[in-house]
Amino acid sequence: MLRAMPDHAQPHVIIIGGGFAGLAAARKLERERVRVTLIDRRNHHLFQPLLYQVATAALAAPDVAAPIRRLLRRHDNTTVILGAVVGVDPAARVVRLEDGSELAYDYLIVAAGASNSWFGHDAEWSSVAPGLKTIDDAFDIRRRILGAYEEAEREPDEARRRWLLTFVVIGAGPTGVELAGALNEISRHTMRQNFRNFDPTSARVVLIEAGPRILPTFAEKLATKARKRLAKTGVEVKVGLMVTAIDERGVDLAAGKGKGEGERDERPERLDAATVLWAAGVRGAEVGKTLGVETDRGGRVPVTAELALPGHPRTYVVGDLARVAWGDDGDTVPGIAPAAIQMGAHAAENVKRQINGEAPTPFRYRDKGAMATVGRAAALVDTPKLKLFGFLAWLMWVFIHILYLASFRNRVVVLFEWAWAYFSWNRPGRIILERPPRHGARPLPPDRAPGDSGRPADPPPA
Ligand SMILES: Cc1cc2nc3c(=O)[nH]c(=O)nc-3n(C[C@H](O)[C@H](O)[C@H](O)COP(=O)(O)OP(=O)(O)OC[C@H]3O[C@@H](n4cnc5c(N)ncnc54)[C@H](O)[C@@H]3O)c2cc1C
Repeated sequence: MLRAMPDHAQPHVIIIGGGFAGLAAARKLERERVRVTLIDRRNHHLFQPLLYQVATAALAAPDVAAPIRRLLRRHDNTTVILGAVVGVDPAARVVRLEDGSELAYDYLIVAAGASNSWFGHDAEWSSVAPGLKTIDDAFDIRRRILGAYEEAEREPDEARRRWLLTFVVIGAGPTGVELAGALNEISRHTMRQNFRNFDPTSARVVLIEAGPRILPTFAEKLATKARKRLAKTGVEVKVGLMVTAIDERGVDLAAGKGKGEGERDERPERLDAATVLWAAGVRGAEVGKTLGVETDRGGRVPVTAELALPGHPRTYVVGDLARVAWGDDGDTVPGIAPAAIQMGAHAAENVKRQINGEAPTPFRYRDKGAMATVGRAAALVDTPKLKLFGFLAWLMWVFIHILYLASFRNRVVVLFEWAWAYFSWNRPGRIILERPPRHGARPLPPDRAPGDSGRPADPPPA
């Protein structure tokens, strides 16, 4: 059945991005007398906080994603367009799409999020150390992890098998810690009894952080507990070490920004590993560069207190793409889902006010804290009122994540999958969709100095 058509006489609000901020804005405008067009280059809203579970085979992709069109199906005033925005002209109030078409707007909410950033090394490092931002990234990472185990089963050479079974995660923020914990669980539990020619528990999982401690945005006491838990379960945590080079054989490390808990973990070294994963940084989406203001080092667009583009009160920028001042210490609102939701809803509220002839109001960030898992059945919860580590924190993590998932179907499925995994130790997503590439490379000879990017003498196997 065709639903009511949007009224073209009403003010036109364009939302770029159907992530947390864009969806929150669309929901706020559902019952308003406006015509909304939401443009996303993907057809699905992605629940990024659980993406690491797709990458590590605990969940399937549709469990953490939902078609934007379906999520907004009851919004009679909203049209969803699948397309990539390549530019915005805030003076002319026009949005340009990849196919050359243009859409005029009365109000614009740019909620295009962020993408992976390899700190100026995107060209060399992105192919050897994939980041985690999209479902494609998660599939790529899953293929590499499972492929390394498959190859190890057929590898007669002990040194090369050790290299195949070394997994390095760069960046010990929540995503890096969650990935490392899950990789460790795969080797210690999921893969147990699955192979005949090696012991999967011999796999090495190494978590590297350039700063003095892991989880720098969490309270230090909680981060210390998390580090101890990781170490106890078998993850090698190395802080104060910065990655200086990555190639298909592993990483070079040099002294980083500081020492962790009294001593530096390691002197500069070479770490040979077949699988290197990047969890060290993101940068504001490309479309931010077309808005006519200078972005910050993280590619974020500075906005006014009302979340508008300076000089353009009808153009808002929200979510991970926005640089929003917070407090008096020069802090900015963090790039997390609750902040994006609050900003998206606030920008839509300001649009409503402007349409009604009222002045827009300043955005006030309500800090609800942060949480992260640390391997199986342990998590940290760090809110202004509550600091918790362990099983109870994990139960809270489960509850909150189920609550925030975008569709009822996903909530039910994910809860079931977690319950099943908790008792069976299984990971149902252990399906390799494409044949994993054989690791052509070999570990470097032991006498090679860090920073030497020379090739090994022996040619890659056919
Ligand atoms: C692996 C990972 C784990 C995370 N874990 C947590 C967590 O545990 N807790 C937490 O609070 N936060 C977490 N975050 C951060 C959180 O996901 C982000 O802060 C949040 O998604 C930001 O919302 P957003 O709407 O600004 O951007 P997004 O949710 O990224 O949405 C942006 C949307 O814009 C679309 N888009 C981008 N460019 C264009 C274009 N040019 N044209 C059309 N569409 C475009 C994208 O396709 C996307 O759908 C995590 C992020 C990642 C990557």
